[in-house]
Amino acid sequence: MDVLKNLPAEVVKHIEQVSEVAGYLWEKEWAEKSSGNISIDLSGLFPEEMINQIREEVTCIFPKEAAGMVLFVTGSGCRLRHLVNRTEEVASIIAVNQSATAYSVLWGGKKPGFKPTSELSAHIKIHLFNAVNNTGRKAVVHAHPIELVVLSHHKIFKDEVLFNHSLWKMCPEIKLYVPKGVGCADYARYGTEELANLTLDALKDHDVVLWEKHGALATGVDMEEAFDFLDVANKGAKLLLLAWSAGFNPEGLSPEQLDELINT
Ligand SMILES: [Zn+2]
Repeated sequence: MDVLKNLPAEVVKHIEQVSEVAGYLWEKEWAEKSSGNISIDLSGLFPEEMINQIREEVTCIFPKEAAGMVLFVTGSGCRLRHLVNRTEEVASIIAVNQSATAYSVLWGGKKPGFKPTSELSAHIKIHLFNAVNNTGRKAVVHAHPIELVVLSHHKIFKDEVLFNHSLWKMCPEIKLYVPKGVGCADYARYGTEELANLTLDALKDHDVVLWEKHGALATGVDMEEAFDFLDVANKGAKLLLLAWSAGFNPEGLSPEQLDELINT
């Protein structure tokens, strides 16, 4: 993409992956209209002189630990499907100032009135947690994986152990590729601090967080890995719902068969 030509190579790689994954999200019907949001922690990938150029600042209160953070982030009210070939309109790279009181736009955000996603607070909390704990995870994606959302309306959602066993038992890869499972977060309104806190808590010991009656969020070393966590977890939900739709309760892999997968 021509619009990416002045960006560091590592940043270009991340943005190209975001575009590719955005196409998958649209095809899977997981990101209708302006639903869903994506961010990547790009801190440390830009030369200082690029960050320090004088730019207009937008006031915004960040946690003070976010000072100096550089983030790729999608826009509020923007359609994720436009990330496929209009990335610079619907996403931006922002740099948080040293006092964590404002950000400036390093790249993108070309859509008139562009503002970062309303879930920015949740994304920043996750990136700060990942940075402090050296998880290596730089990407965060929120979308509406259909079958997971359907299952978040079922009573098994309230029993996290049973919920995860019900997904894992459907085929070996679900246990292998989503080993820490899905954290079930009770309903909270989108964009709130409450949802941000529930999300971070669930992600401390799970690969995916499922927001009750809303959607899911995952994080990964890059966008592809974050997407894979959602995709594989959702496959478990889809298989389970298909079995139920066909009128039977799937036998599933036994606890011993599941244990054997991770112990060999
Ligand atoms: Zn959503």
